[in-house]
Amino acid sequence: ERPRVGISACLLGERVRYDGVPLRDRFVNEVLGRFVEYVPVCPEVELGLGVPRETIRLVRDERQRTRLIAPRSGRDLTEPMRRLAAAICERLAALQVDGFVVKKNSPTCGLYRVRLYTPEGQLAGRLGTGVFAEVLRERLPLLPVEEEGRLNDPVLRETFVAQVYAHARLREFFA
Ligand code: SF4
Repeated sequence: ERPRVGISACLLGERVRYDGVPLRDRFVNEVLGRFVEYVPVCPEVELGLGVPRETIRLVRDERQRTRLIAPRSGRDLTEPMRRLAAAICERLAALQVDGFVVKKNSPTCGLYRVRLYTPEGQLAGRLGTGVFAEVLRERLPLLPVEEEGRLNDPVLRETFVAQVYAHARLREFFA
């Protein structure tokens, strides 16, 4: 039986991105996809933001808190996204996923080096983590999570796949 792996739905070519333009990651689809069963998730669409939608970004506010903001409308989506992410984590746990591949650079799904902006709209750095990815890490700390871009590195790729299989074995052991 193939392990189940959650994935940012846009990486499978689903039309869920803010601009509606499909994206299809080659390794994820043509290689890893042969060995795992994907559980696609798009938190922004599940939040009801629609396709296409206004762009959103991570903003570091004056109290050094990171917020998920839609700059055009000024909406602060942080708390609704955190609540939704927690619900998605429960769903993933119930589905017994053994890993998750997140989309890099996204203020929602990105794990490393996501752009952070000042409240005035200037780039403040690149050390952010997307809100969904952050909750995923908090709620399912033993779940292997990796960005699709990093899976192009053979060492990181092997590590991730080994972790997915180890997670599956551990889960079966405790079942
Ligand atoms: Fe949806 Fe995440 Fe892909 Fe953005 S990066 S389109 S939130 S799945």
